[in-house]
Amino acid sequence: MSRFLNEKYQKLDAYTPGEQPQDKSYIKLNTNESPYPPSGGVISAVNETEIKNLRLYSDPESARLKTALAKLYNTEAENIFVSNGSDDILNFAFMAYGSNGVIFPDITYGFYSVFAELHGIPTTVIPLNEDFTVNTSAFMGKNKLIVIANPNAPTGIALSLEVIEEIIKSNPDSIVLIDEAYVDFGAESCASLTEKYDNLLCVQTFSKSRSMAGARLGFAIAGKEIIADLEKIKYSTNPYNINRLTQVAGIAAVTDNDYYTENCKKIIQTREYVTKELEALGFRVLDSKANFVFAKSNKISGMALYEALKEKGALVRHFDKPRICEYNRITIGSRKEMEIFIEKVKEILGEL
Ligand SMILES: *Cc1c(COP(=O)(O)O)cnc(C)c1O
Repeated sequence: MSRFLNEKYQKLDAYTPGEQPQDKSYIKLNTNESPYPPSGGVISAVNETEIKNLRLYSDPESARLKTALAKLYNTEAENIFVSNGSDDILNFAFMAYGSNGVIFPDITYGFYSVFAELHGIPTTVIPLNEDFTVNTSAFMGKNKLIVIANPNAPTGIALSLEVIEEIIKSNPDSIVLIDEAYVDFGAESCASLTEKYDNLLCVQTFSKSRSMAGARLGFAIAGKEIIADLEKIKYSTNPYNINRLTQVAGIAAVTDNDYYTENCKKIIQTREYVTKELEALGFRVLDSKANFVFAKSNKISGMALYEALKEKGALVRHFDKPRICEYNRITIGSRKEMEIFIEKVKEILGEL
């Protein structure tokens, strides 16, 4: 740190991304990427013509992309916001709506507390229940920005739409942000509720179910006024924050929606397979509606399993935090990858 850094950032504890090793090739089950490539339409959309067009700025309004998303989600382009990954949208939302403080579960996506700190937002954390479900009653009737990942990360546990709607209704004077990064793997989206509630902000991403983590594309669905707020912040920071290649890739991905729906089905099937196998090996596996499982062994510590797997060429995500340090978050890869993963787990348990 230089001596010039603004004092308010000196103590900032930045987000720690999952490892992205550039050296040896691991079975990479640590950052919830898709094992499947982008659709054929995406691959042909990012072509020589589009690359030559890189000399021109991208469309700051992302008009075609918004229109495509609006059609898919049965809404209007004015109800869609797009940005450079959903992390970008979360950042804007904390900036825009955090002045009365923010409230989120103690065990959830690690970026929420970073954004709160970055923007100096007073934070209330609500401990998850003993069974790792969200303590929803603690989110009723708060006059603060409410942030809930549904399904939650790293647990994978989803809330029903009825409960989400109760939370939205009981907080009419504050924004309820539902982070649906994993919703396509078996949970219910609140997107359609945005017609009914002007305080709901539904955030999604192309990074997980749409195989485009490296393209950086997130979107939000909400009432027009909320979208206008987010646009104001985007135009005050970086209007061109979605590059041309990502815009054409995103439009093609929306067009090829059926391909991604099929991939999600495969991932759900593989998740059931992994859950059964791990349970047979004595693991406790939380009920996941995401493209990962959160699991704890009855024979080996979370840290030791993480390290042994890494040694054997499989990367999973371990969080060295109270309550969850005995667990590992395991991304659901292809069936083949997961068979190899289960073999490695068996070897490790056999060597104890
Ligand atoms: C992966 C993830 C995101 C971020 O996604 P990007 O669109 O890649 O920025 C947001 N929220 C949760 C809960 C996630 O797991």
